[in-house]
Amino acid sequence: MERSADMMEKVVSLCKRRGFVFPGSEIYGGFVGSFDYGPYGVELANNIKAAWWQAMVNRESNVVGLDSAIVTHPKVWEASGHVGGFSDPLVECKECNTRSRADHLLEEVGVFADEKMTVEEINTVFDSVRDKIVCPKCGQKNFGSVTKFNLLAKTNLGNFKDDWNADPTYLRGETCQGIYINFKNVLDSTRVKVPFGIAQIGKAFRNEIAPRQYIFRKREFEQMEMQMFVAPEAEMTVYEEWKKKRMQYYLDLGFKQENLRWHEHENLVFYAKAAFDIEYNFPFGFKEMEGVHARGDYDLTQHQKFSGVSMEYLDPYTNEKYIPHVVETSVGVDRTFLAVMTEFYDEDELGGEKRVVLRFPKKLAPIKVAVFPLLKNRPELVEKAKEVFALVSEHMRAEFDDNGNVGKRYRRQDEIGTPYCVTIDFDTLGEEKPEFKDTVTVRDRDTGEQVRVAITELIEYLK
Ligand SMILES: [Zn+2]
Repeated sequence: MERSADMMEKVVSLCKRRGFVFPGSEIYGGFVGSFDYGPYGVELANNIKAAWWQAMVNRESNVVGLDSAIVTHPKVWEASGHVGGFSDPLVECKECNTRSRADHLLEEVGVFADEKMTVEEINTVFDSVRDKIVCPKCGQKNFGSVTKFNLLAKTNLGNFKDDWNADPTYLRGETCQGIYINFKNVLDSTRVKVPFGIAQIGKAFRNEIAPRQYIFRKREFEQMEMQMFVAPEAEMTVYEEWKKKRMQYYLDLGFKQENLRWHEHENLVFYAKAAFDIEYNFPFGFKEMEGVHARGDYDLTQHQKFSGVSMEYLDPYTNEKYIPHVVETSVGVDRTFLAVMTEFYDEDELGGEKRVVLRFPKKLAPIKVAVFPLLKNRPELVEKAKEVFALVSEHMRAEFDDNGNVGKRYRRQDEIGTPYCVTIDFDTLGEEKPEFKDTVTVRDRDTGEQVRVAITELIEYLK
């Protein structure tokens, strides 16, 4: 489908209507930048995470998993540079006190501001077009000067002083720091040798001034990150390998090539060797989905400096000692979720009727199969359908549905992307046609075609 605001509205509305995504704290009027995954949303998000883990850990002989703490020693964030330099440019409207991201306001008048600009640089740019920039809340053009607002969220977890804010701990701003600080632990406790990777899925927190674009930019979000530790001279080779693998990953999932592209960072942070993003064609245009970065030895060197613990690796083959370099792949669960909803959303006509259908690949579909009794008020059909449901639910996520007529149930399952619907009818009971006894109708989501399958062969057929 063509990307547009209209499409975004359709996806957002479907997510709410069918229980994929709910606005956070809705009964209290909502809470900006927060969303809750509903019954089908949590299944889809879990499947996205499982697919990533399968590709990054299970299928890679030299990558292991980790689940590190969300709240760490505060020094971790000093070492990582987040306490000093992890900020967004903030500007306040003097008329209504609304705080906005200066770079977003500049973008709206066609001026590009880089996140790595200093406060002075961005103020110069802002002042040069100040007369064109209007406050998104009140429409006035009366702003203060641009300041830097730190994105790390503070917490008093484990801090019982009255003035905890002066000496805070932080909710992690990214999951990879938990990986760096466990580099030695993993090395000393497992069979791995450089080159090896550590993968982690988990929540991260950023105090975004203006969360926007639905679940694309949230304050509380989930990351899937993998850090590959490599010998310095191998960094760029490994980097190129992972670039290829990560693009192929999306193609294998069923994404169209035309909706994916590489974007090279124009301004690299000083320590990085290379940084490319995989951008996806979201309803609001191409935006970053995943980053693949060659980070040099910056991360481990910083933690060695701040902790006093050596991060050196002694290569058992060459006897060489070095601090490993890092190749990182980093993607958000929430961004992948929105990309998947966008990529597989479709509208078509089936049997002369218009429908909305999510053409999810089977491994991502929240529900793999729905089981229906043809009629709700015939106990013998319902009983048989419950038997079939019990059978298939042992093997895959299934749903039992006896609400409304079968046509309505098909539409409902199409809208949540269920690949197969199984109906138990009078033929299943073998009342009139004994040759059909203990067979069911299996209907395909994409074609609407129906076939008769014996219950004894059903699991094999669905798999
Ligand atoms: Zn204002």
